[in-house]
Amino acid sequence: MCDVSFFYRSSNFMEEKLFVRAVKGGKTTKTITLNGKKMRKIPSTIGNLPGLKVLNLQNNLISCVCSELSTLTQLTVLNLGNNLLEEVPEEVKYLTSLTKLHLFGNRINRFASGVCDGLKNLTLLNLNNNQLTYIPKKLESLIYLSINHNQLTSIPRELCFLKNLSELQLNYNQIICIPEEIKFLKRLQKLFLARNNIEVLPEVLCHLINLRILDVAGNVLQIFPSGFQYLKLKEFYCEGNPLFLNHPVSAIKQLDILSLQEITSRFIMNQLIEMNPFLMEAIEWYPQIWDTISKGRICAICGKSFLTIWIECVEFVPPSKNWKTSKNLELVPLRTLICSYECFNQRGPNQFGIAQVQEQ
Ligand SMILES: [Zn+2]
Repeated sequence: MCDVSFFYRSSNFMEEKLFVRAVKGGKTTKTITLNGKKMRKIPSTIGNLPGLKVLNLQNNLISCVCSELSTLTQLTVLNLGNNLLEEVPEEVKYLTSLTKLHLFGNRINRFASGVCDGLKNLTLLNLNNNQLTYIPKKLESLIYLSINHNQLTSIPRELCFLKNLSELQLNYNQIICIPEEIKFLKRLQKLFLARNNIEVLPEVLCHLINLRILDVAGNVLQIFPSGFQYLKLKEFYCEGNPLFLNHPVSAIKQLDILSLQEITSRFIMNQLIEMNPFLMEAIEWYPQIWDTISKGRICAICGKSFLTIWIECVEFVPPSKNWKTSKNLELVPLRTLICSYECFNQRGPNQFGIAQVQEQ
C-alpha cells in the first residue's frame, strides 16, 4: 500500500533539508535560492531567518505559502515565479521592505484581501502569465508593472493613479478600451499594449510627454488621435492593425446647420479663449456650463472651438524620423476634427473627410 503520509513527510523533510543546507550562515543569511527543486511548500524554518533579504523559489510546485513568511520584514526581493499559486497570498502584506515581487507563471486569479496595504515600498511587480481580471488599488510606489498574458478586458482605472509608474506591460490581454485617466501617468515611458482588442486610442494619450516606447501591435486600430505625431517616441509598433489606408471616403458638401446649443457653446468657448472679462467672471457662477464646454474640441483648420458637431477627417502623416517603427509603416493615419464645411474646404491635400458626426 502506498504510504501517502510518508510521502508528504519525506517531501517536507527534503524541503527542510534543502533549506538547512541553504541556511549555512544561520541568522546572518541574506539570500536563499532554491529554484527548480520540486518543492511543494515553503518550510516553516524560514521564520528563523529574520535577516533574509532575497528569497528565490521559482520553478517549484508551491501552491500556498507558510504563515512564517510574514515574519521576513527585511525581505526586499521575493521570487515565486512559475509555481502553483492561485492567489497573491495574504502573508505578502507583512513584507514591508519588499521592493520586487515576481509572481509570473502561476494560476493567480485574485488578491488576498488587504494584500497591497503593506507593500509601500514595492517598485516592481511581475504578474505575467496568470488569470487576473482585475488589479487592486494601493500600489502607489510601483515603477514597473507587468501583467502580460492575463485576462484583463480594460486598463483598470486604479492603475492610472500610480504616479511613479514608468513601465506598464499589458500585452496579450483582452483590453478593448483605454480610460481617459491614462493621462495621469505623467512619468510613463514605456507602454506595451500589443495583442489586445483596442479600437481607439484616446486623445489624452498625447499628454504623456515622457512616453518613449509605445507598442500597440496586433489590435484593431484604424486611426490615431490628432497630436499623435508630436509624441516624442523613440519606438512605435503598430503592425497587425487594420489601419485606415488608401480608401477614405470623401465627404459630401453640405451646409452647416447648427443647433442653438452649438452656436451658443461655440460663442462662449471662443470668447473665453479670447479672455472676455465679462464671460470669464460670469462662467464662475454656472458650473454646469463650464462642465459642458470643457468637453469642447479645437478645429484642426481654424483653431476655434466647437462642441458636438464636427466633420471627422483622416490625415496621413509620415512617422517622425526619430521613431523606430514597425517595418513598412510609411504613413500614420491621424484623426482630425474640423468645425465646419467652410473649414473643410480649406483642408490640406493629405486630409480626407470620413463622415459628419453628431455626438448623441
Ligand atoms: Zn474651423
